[in-house]
Amino acid sequence: MKEIPLSNVRITDSFWAPRRELIARTAMPYMLRVLEDEEQDVPRSHAIENLRVAAGLAEGEFYGMVFQDSDVYKWIETAAYALANDPDERMLEKLREVCAIVEKAQQEDGYLNSYFTLREPDNHWGNLLECHELYCAGHMIEAAVALKEALDVDWLTETAERLAAQIADRFDSDGIPGHQEIEIALMRLYHLTGNPRWLKAAQGFLDRRGQDPDYFVKHTPAHPGISYGDYPIDPKDTVYNQSDMPVRVQKEGRGHAVRCMYMLTAMADCARETGDEAMMEACRRMLRDITERRMYVTGGLGSNPDREQFGAAYELPNDSGYNETCASVAMVFFLHQMLLAQPDGALADLMELELYNGVLASMSADGKHYFYVNPLEVIPGVGGVKEGLKHVKPQRPGWHPCACCPPNLTRLFSQLGRYMYSEGEDTLYAHLLIGGEAETSFGRIEVKTGYPFEGDAVYTVHPVKREFALALHVPGGCEEVSVRVNGQETDARTEDGYLRLSRAWTEGDTVRVSFRMPVRRLYADPRNIAARGCVALARGPFVYCAEGIDYGRARLSELVLPKNAELTAESDGTISGRAVLAGEDIAFRAIPYYSWGNRALTEMRVWLQEE
Ligand SMILES: [Zn+2]
Repeated sequence: MKEIPLSNVRITDSFWAPRRELIARTAMPYMLRVLEDEEQDVPRSHAIENLRVAAGLAEGEFYGMVFQDSDVYKWIETAAYALANDPDERMLEKLREVCAIVEKAQQEDGYLNSYFTLREPDNHWGNLLECHELYCAGHMIEAAVALKEALDVDWLTETAERLAAQIADRFDSDGIPGHQEIEIALMRLYHLTGNPRWLKAAQGFLDRRGQDPDYFVKHTPAHPGISYGDYPIDPKDTVYNQSDMPVRVQKEGRGHAVRCMYMLTAMADCARETGDEAMMEACRRMLRDITERRMYVTGGLGSNPDREQFGAAYELPNDSGYNETCASVAMVFFLHQMLLAQPDGALADLMELELYNGVLASMSADGKHYFYVNPLEVIPGVGGVKEGLKHVKPQRPGWHPCACCPPNLTRLFSQLGRYMYSEGEDTLYAHLLIGGEAETSFGRIEVKTGYPFEGDAVYTVHPVKREFALALHVPGGCEEVSVRVNGQETDARTEDGYLRLSRAWTEGDTVRVSFRMPVRRLYADPRNIAARGCVALARGPFVYCAEGIDYGRARLSELVLPKNAELTAESDGTISGRAVLAGEDIAFRAIPYYSWGNRALTEMRVWLQEE
């Protein structure tokens, strides 16, 4: 199975196109101003200035997290994809300027990291556990790949290859990153260039992980007086960074959620490329564990606020769950790799769950505020205040001192086209139902749809190959699916969650898929005690929540939904599009989870008491 080049997919639907435009025209320029310290009233970033100083283009000192550079790289990725969709000469020039600073900050030998260049020039690669050098390098390489893929420019290609070469040499036979990410980047550089050296380097990092559980104990130097992060990382806590056992025998989502999801993304990519069945089986096993026992109904991952970790099985507290946005972003990356390995409608449904809920909830309607932590229940004055809930913010901040999440979300949505289709030998798969068009090796496909609000889609086929199968994923939770080919009712076979239409196509053939999108009542596994006696509501790809602002003085904990209450979807032109749920005979209102916190400082709750 292969991806369709990003530049061959256009998104024009009424849900995603405006959001992608918001990112291209508002969020991405806003983030640049934050990274340049030009925005008032947000935590200082200094991220671009760090690189400028490291490049010798300005005087000054390093400021920020040890991985501050990665914010710049994720912004470059965002800008590359966003400008490919939505060209803007002025922003393109700014992007070029930022890339020139990065290029200049690279040292003679290929090394590139502003913290170490400025603060600890003699200590390169000295503390892989805590210092995120390989993590930053990974994001730098991904940025270079994105520039080439999206804009066909080599502004950072050579810089990335020189950095990758230093890493491949230095870590030829030992060393693993304390925070996985370099493996993803090396795989992407390999896919871009075809150079097997990068595949081998990625594979080396994955193969070595957990072979020596004492690796970080042996190789982490003491550093009295220097702190590399908000919290200390114990070299003996090997579960935290998934280095206690080899990756092929791991079974559960454990430790730091983002580290784990990045590792799985690279494992799936590498296994797919090399045919490593043991590694792929570990991916499947861990995906099952994570989605069946450790994931919130919203797609949130990492329920334990202690150092951003997965919780125990079924430990899914609603008010204190951490659910870092980056973990949901990384889940999409992982699912994409798994879908390329084996099309499966259940994987596509999980991807939808993350895109429309777990990830999207992070961004405000104005594109300038972002959640890092994504709870399922917030009470203002308690969330963000009470001991044990200080990490939960009842409203989205404009920026974060540790700013990994906002540019991770924007780089994801700016490359959304990548996740929609893939091609097998004789089959074109459509995994996500999003309106637009795609140039594929089978021909051009146009999609018009009212989804995610309405259950209909028309695919128009302009074939260049005559015979092939179109495999269309109908989102899970939809009912009464009917298919018409050129107006004729057709019995389409469903295989692995895809409607499979195999025929000799002629110019302008149409496939109309219609389905019902009922309001679904979801119940948690009884072992999830936080959701006992409660119901969550969903319709189409959206999971819903109630907001205090719709209930006057009542607390949402007093809200009880009758078991048989009829609920229907209604239009709401303001925040939620055509997707508000209302009661037919009762005063009830719920909005899509992604849109919470946009109207006022108010209570929010996903799991509702049911009569
Ligand atoms: Zn993050």
